[in-house]
Amino acid sequence: MSKQVVRQFTVALLSFFIGAFTVAAQDLPAQVREVNIVTRVLPPMVIERDKVLTGFSIELMDEIANRLKLRVSYRVAPDVQALLEDIGARRVEMGIAAVSITAAREAEFDFSQPMLNAGLQIMTRGQSAAARNPLVDIMRLLMSWASLAWLGIAALLILIPAHLVWFLERRHPGGIMPTAKYIPGIFHALYWAAGTLVTQGESNPKQVLARIIALLWMFAGVVFVALYTAQLTATLTVQQIYGSISGPEDLAGKRVATTAGSTAANALRDLRAKTVEVRQISEAYEALHNHTVDAVVFDAPVLLYYAANEGRGRVQIIGAPFRKEDYGIVFPRASSLRSEVNVSLLRMREDGTYQRIYDRWFSSR
Ligand code: GLU
Repeated sequence: MSKQVVRQFTVALLSFFIGAFTVAAQDLPAQVREVNIVTRVLPPMVIERDKVLTGFSIELMDEIANRLKLRVSYRVAPDVQALLEDIGARRVEMGIAAVSITAAREAEFDFSQPMLNAGLQIMTRGQSAAARNPLVDIMRLLMSWASLAWLGIAALLILIPAHLVWFLERRHPGGIMPTAKYIPGIFHALYWAAGTLVTQGESNPKQVLARIIALLWMFAGVVFVALYTAQLTATLTVQQIYGSISGPEDLAGKRVATTAGSTAANALRDLRAKTVEVRQISEAYEALHNHTVDAVVFDAPVLLYYAANEGRGRVQIIGAPFRKEDYGIVFPRASSLRSEVNVSLLRMREDGTYQRIYDRWFSSR
């Protein structure tokens, strides 16, 4: 009886261990999955140092891989289009770098939850005071459209008092008209009106009504000069701070570098800039320093990192991002990995891991 119990017990124990072992053996290969990922170098999102990849996006992905027990291997694409082509052709299972989530891309690929808020921003060469030529500034200001518009308005305005004063003064003895004829009398009147507008005039009409008009015209002159001065001062100040580019609307007709196939390249087309498309963002920085372009338009996190590190003192960031975008991890359509990756990404936000990685790359030290 007891022998039977012992036998039964031994069989039960053995089958438990065999069962447990087979379950574990079945689980093991299924757990560690090989996953190919495409990326692209864009500091600080992805940095390549001695053939080793690091950066915000890589650390984020390595952490996700750790949690999902993925064995990841990266390949580096030359530009964002090549990166997306790798995904489209299913040569890889995921793409991560600084890929903006856009309507057009969403129609072709699947994206994770946003992994970083970004947006497009403008960067120009630094305007150090010593490098500026005040003479060039003044010439540029005098030749600017604003100055020409003011001159045009003045030329038109002058016609009114000039004609009135010519008409009233023309027969007045000892008045400012040496002749009663329209020509050359009107030229004297125009000269008087122009002089009065800017310098408050040195000769005054004698006829009563003409004097009243002259007085009103002098007052108009004071207002005109005040407005013109205010406009010149404002333009000069903005130029001294920012140069001639102070926002996206100033990019029309300017030479601007960005990367090929990027959302920035699209935006620059809309803004009618002369776009110079390069593959590596480092080439855009070089073009800026070589004066090949007037500005670089690209993703805010990337430009801000450059301006705070390698480009420090040599470049300046203009204004806030003018077009908001979010970065996402990109998958081929109907990828089974997406929901797992999303859960990890959201958990990382909730447990503080995301913040730690973020701070490592973006907090100002
Ligand atoms: N955020 C840009 C885009 O998705 C990056 C472009 C690039 O990788 O050069 O278009």
